[in-house]
Amino acid sequence: MGSESVPRLDVVVIGAGLAAAKAVIALRENGHDGAITIVGDEEHPPYERPPLSKDFLMGKSAFDDALVEPATWYDEHDVRLLTGRTVEILDLAEHSVTLSDGESISYDKAILATGARPRVLDIPGAELARTLRRVEDSEALRESFASSSSVVVIGGGWIGLEAAAAAREAGVDVVVLEAAPMPLQRALGDEMAGYFADLHRKHGVDLRTDTGVDSISDSAPGDGGPYTVTAGGDELTADLVLMGVGAVPNTQLAESAGLTVDNGVVVDERFATSDPDVLAIGDVARARNTALDESVRVEHWDNAIKQGRAVAKVLLGEDVVYDWQPYFFTDQYDLGMEYVGHAGPSNDVVVRGDRSSGEFIAFWLDGQRLTAGMNVNIWDVNDDIRALCGRTVDRERLADPDVPLTALIEGEVAGG
Ligand SMILES: Cc1cc2nc3c(=O)[nH]c(=O)nc-3n(C[C@H](O)[C@H](O)[C@H](O)COP(=O)(O)OP(=O)(O)OC[C@H]3O[C@@H](n4cnc5c(N)ncnc54)[C@H](O)[C@@H]3O)c2cc1C
Repeated sequence: MGSESVPRLDVVVIGAGLAAAKAVIALRENGHDGAITIVGDEEHPPYERPPLSKDFLMGKSAFDDALVEPATWYDEHDVRLLTGRTVEILDLAEHSVTLSDGESISYDKAILATGARPRVLDIPGAELARTLRRVEDSEALRESFASSSSVVVIGGGWIGLEAAAAAREAGVDVVVLEAAPMPLQRALGDEMAGYFADLHRKHGVDLRTDTGVDSISDSAPGDGGPYTVTAGGDELTADLVLMGVGAVPNTQLAESAGLTVDNGVVVDERFATSDPDVLAIGDVARARNTALDESVRVEHWDNAIKQGRAVAKVLLGEDVVYDWQPYFFTDQYDLGMEYVGHAGPSNDVVVRGDRSSGEFIAFWLDGQRLTAGMNVNIWDVNDDIRALCGRTVDRERLADPDVPLTALIEGEVAGG
């Protein structure tokens, strides 16, 4: 640990989301004594977004529960938190940032943690659809669920499906339109994507796959709906339209500064951009992952946390690299799951347990090599699955619930 040998650095963090907060918390916890400023364009202290499509959307949790730290934490730890302000210029030569209110702040090291924003389809009437990224979006959606009887969700990705589950819970009729043959197909492959499709249909969702959307229109313009969605030759009417078709990294600032950008701000395994004094983490960063031996941009909660903590250690001179398997989770209806690893599209699936019971583990394999695993309504096993990622495994033993996962790990270690 090199904090004593590292010069006092003034750090500016651009963006005040989860990755940013975790970075500054880890800096202070590990003894960083330089100035720290975080600048965020939202009006709130950093908060976690997963509840926005789950408990918070369903009215089961409060916004304060989503704060990474209470608002007072930042002052107490001598962190200057500037909310409601945008960083408009990143000047690499001057080592400074300029904010929307004209203030200029100089830095020794800057961390780009600008996250991502909802992707919007280029179709007529796209502006009539809601998106879900910020707390205000979730609040407005929750209120609309209470006064609506129908919603069309465009996109069967994680956020679309979680919002569909919340809408069903609120008693709203839901149509989900997915352009691909199955929802979540790219993330999970056919077999497990089919499991999620069945789950939603069982809960009364009208899930239409292979269905691209052509247009959205307001039946009574100016009255806020009902809306007509034209898709797959059909016209659907709904009180509300939600678009959940993925996210786009917020790279504009990095691009204007002249940093290398290619599906995210390109960084090495220690989060350095093409300028060594600017680092990037979280949803905006496409980082070299040494465990996967590829550059990946991961839009998940755990990635923001781990990269935030790791970048702090990099700045403190520690020997840390981005070397962990990606992880994410979801909650939909009574299904809770965690996924760890990085399966390829040609990987096949081995299931341990009975999927019809709703409690099982799915593993993805590339030949005999385990690439990822997903525990569904089974807990405290994700670390074991993580330990199995990248290993050669015996498929029969993997599928057998009587063989403990720890035995498989140990067996593999012993057996080389
Ligand atoms: C509704 C929802 C549900 C989710 N659920 C899950 C889940 O169940 N599981 C999971 O693993 N992941 C989930 N995620 C993903 C997870 O929330 C993100 O991966 C995480 O928020 C990324 O953190 P970040 O700090 O990189 O970016 P963000 O959280 O996007 O924060 C970036 C911040 O920077 C601000 N900003 C951008 N540009 C500027 C600028 N120039 N100046 C100042 N501020 C700027 C942005 O407005 C934003 O406030 C969910 C995301 C959403 C939206």
